[in-house]
Amino acid sequence: VINCGSSSLKYQLIDMANEDVMASGLVERIGIEGSKLTHKKDGEKFVTETEMKDHRVALKLVLDELLNKEHGAISDLKEINAVGHRVVHGGEKFNDSVVVDDKVLQEIKECFALAPLHNPANLMGIEAIQGLMPDVPNVVVFDTAFHQTMPEENYLYALPYEYYEKYKVRRYGFHGTSHNFVSKRAADMLGKKREDLRIITCHLGNGSSMAAVDHGKVIDTSMGLTPLEGVCMGTRCGDMDPAIVTFIMEKEGLSPKEMDNVMNKKSGVLALSGISSDFRDIEAEVGKNKRAEIALNQFANRVRKYIGAYATQMGGVDVIVFTAGVGENSVEMREQILSKLEFMGVKVDKEKNNVRGKEAIISTDDSKIIAMAIPTNEELMIARDTKRLTENK
Ligand code: ADP
Repeated sequence: VINCGSSSLKYQLIDMANEDVMASGLVERIGIEGSKLTHKKDGEKFVTETEMKDHRVALKLVLDELLNKEHGAISDLKEINAVGHRVVHGGEKFNDSVVVDDKVLQEIKECFALAPLHNPANLMGIEAIQGLMPDVPNVVVFDTAFHQTMPEENYLYALPYEYYEKYKVRRYGFHGTSHNFVSKRAADMLGKKREDLRIITCHLGNGSSMAAVDHGKVIDTSMGLTPLEGVCMGTRCGDMDPAIVTFIMEKEGLSPKEMDNVMNKKSGVLALSGISSDFRDIEAEVGKNKRAEIALNQFANRVRKYIGAYATQMGGVDVIVFTAGVGENSVEMREQILSKLEFMGVKVDKEKNNVRGKEAIISTDDSKIIAMAIPTNEELMIARDTKRLTENK
């Protein structure tokens, strides 16, 4: 499984017979001075520092690491049956993962304008693998695909319709692979079918998004045309009065690009707290720093606002799932979010909620709505889709 960023690349080699991770790693600073590959095998790290001018060079080194006699995981590249790639934007064309062919590559290119930082990097990864392993099938798994079931009334913005027609300005939603994985896992853990449940998934990490998964289908999600909309995040502002954008641009004389940078990189809980974008740093200041509390309270309120909104859209809710960095690990944040939802039927069990990074039901046995914490695993989801679409072919 490969997840390519513009200058970084994450990989995992997964044995699908038992879903075990055989090896994994990270390449940083591709095309920049100081390129570095960190390969992990059996809990040990192996670092290679050498020039990597592009993704192809980086991926060649990754394959060499996988084949390494001492700390590799395979003895022949033929042992790799398929490669799954994360692609951020699939536009309106893809509601599922697909096996790569020329047409798919073209469609990914057509989404460059919608995800200018991500899709070109994702495509570089696919083309590099095609060059290095020409006989192996590639599958792409889109962050947007799981959200493609949204109805028009939820994906259209109340803007002139021509912007949708001309530029495809609409809500797409992101983290779809994660929302898909945890909603499915929640149903499995409860011994139920996802198609019989109304689930709200809260992916709360550095970037955060919420989704209403109504009987197996997303009907609404908080991120929009880009991953900037929705709850406030580490460094992203999330929802606000759109008039603020032009107001600040005028006052500060900012270009669209500069304003974009403010909203994506300098806002969120970082701006509110004045401390950090990392929730651990902010939580450590509670009781000492008023702005730390404002940041955490706002974050909790925003998440709760979406829970309320999605419960009303689905006519009720059966399960609320927390995942990603904050959702999996912050006992305090989960409790804060859920504590005011008792009126709807959520009762938190403080002891059961005291878990980090593990699957758990965190509500009491008599809670009408079941609350859960489930670690996400986007790589495994990508690997499963890759297997599903390539086996027996
Ligand atoms: P990304 O969106 O970059 O994939 P993650 O899902 O890894 O992000 O989430 C990163 C966030 O999770 C960080 O802001 C960090 O503060 C938060 N986090 C991780 N562990 C904890 C913890 N124990 N308590 C509170 N927050 C945590």
